[in-house]
Amino acid sequence: MTMQGDAYLKCIDPQCGLEYPIESTNVQCDKGHLLDVKYKKTPSTNLKDVFSNRRNPQGSIFNESGVWRFRELLNFCQIDTENIDECSKYLVSLDGAEGRQSKPYQMSKAAEFVGISSNNLWLQPEGYNPSGSFKDNGMSTAVTHAKMIGAKKIVCASTGNTSASAGMFAANEGINCDVYIPAGQIAPGKLSQAYQFGAQIIEVDGNFDDALKQSLEDAQNHEGYTVNSINPFRIEGQKTIPFRALEYLNWESPDWIVYPGGALGNTSSCGKALMELYEWGWIKKIPRIAVINSEGASTLSDLYNGKFEGEELRWNKGKPNTDLITKYYDHLDKEGIRPKTKATAIQIGRPANILKGLRALEFTNGVATTVSDSEMLDGMSVVGLNGFDCEMASGASVVGIKKLMDEEIIKKDDTVVGILTGRQKDAMLPVDYHKNPENKFAIPPKS
Ligand SMILES: *Cc1c(COP(=O)(O)O)cnc(C)c1O
Ligand SMILES: [Zn+2]
Repeated sequence: MTMQGDAYLKCIDPQCGLEYPIESTNVQCDKGHLLDVKYKKTPSTNLKDVFSNRRNPQGSIFNESGVWRFRELLNFCQIDTENIDECSKYLVSLDGAEGRQSKPYQMSKAAEFVGISSNNLWLQPEGYNPSGSFKDNGMSTAVTHAKMIGAKKIVCASTGNTSASAGMFAANEGINCDVYIPAGQIAPGKLSQAYQFGAQIIEVDGNFDDALKQSLEDAQNHEGYTVNSINPFRIEGQKTIPFRALEYLNWESPDWIVYPGGALGNTSSCGKALMELYEWGWIKKIPRIAVINSEGASTLSDLYNGKFEGEELRWNKGKPNTDLITKYYDHLDKEGIRPKTKATAIQIGRPANILKGLRALEFTNGVATTVSDSEMLDGMSVVGLNGFDCEMASGASVVGIKKLMDEEIIKKDDTVVGILTGRQKDAMLPVDYHKNPENKFAIPPKS
């Protein structure tokens, strides 16, 4: 363990640029902008071999972990040792399980459905994480930082999977966890996990955006440590999702990486990962990011595609028109428009990471679009027919790819990685889907 002061926090707004020490618990700069974890040193590309060798874990849970295997690329703890006992003092891991099982797979029926050759489409099931969603990638790093600064309690708002993940790591580390949920709007399979892990549930009368607001206020007033994706350390851990995809492809960039869009933490982390890898000379080509919103919660897609007041919102080299975002939210409030989709994981009207998301889209020449609930169910179901399991929000990646193919934005010979963000926790959804013979992939029961 050496403390070289290599890592620090920096405001993402280039005009502001405030910096903070790595031990800071601020999730925003003093002017209210989002923060990035920054590193002064350039990691050597020789690490590609180190990471590959660690796939034979040689008795280390930190090599087994699909997050900590890449620890030199998210080394905010400044760890400089392979000693397991020494690492265990700092790094939070569920015995190496986070990110361990997730890598890209080829799924022929999904490929046929979207219209891409089976060799050019990979889907990466992040649902095979210990709490059942990609959130574990970022939660292991956020809780590592919480532990580093001696936090006694972590706090989050959740559409379900964040609370399951936070509850799991908190229980395993022996710290408290408060979870703010929009009452009645969480899949029972997710809520039950938070209870099971002993988290304190706080029901908020409102939607996710209201729950997040209240949790941030309470965290500030009662010394809680916020683990929502506005926490820059969450973003660091989620960088390993594209790392694993790229490693699998021998660090040859695909043409596209596709995510469902909720609070846009994933979009932000993918963008940051690609910005860093490109700057460090690890990749030559920049994959384009596609973000798939639900039609019923389409803030990013609306603003990015100029559906509101005719202006296409852009990061604009760090000078985004934030007034347009404010006006859009005012418009939602005034018209009483609430985010509405059965894919509750992405039922978010005010994506907290929207500016980092815009930055990611600008850097990667990305796109944003929307899909309907019934399309997402088809996407979810075709993944099932390949023997893989994912939840409805993850189906957005699959049908999003199909839509962009149909629109010829994704070209026929493009290589595409779609992220399947979570596993099925809404038990009746597939049952209801298959009972209805009208559904595209339904196999109705016989009697
Ligand atoms: C949280 C979540 C999302 C949304 O991810 P963001 O990073 O908030 O955009 C999508 N799918 C699943 C299954 C999730 O749990
Ligand atoms: Zn700032």
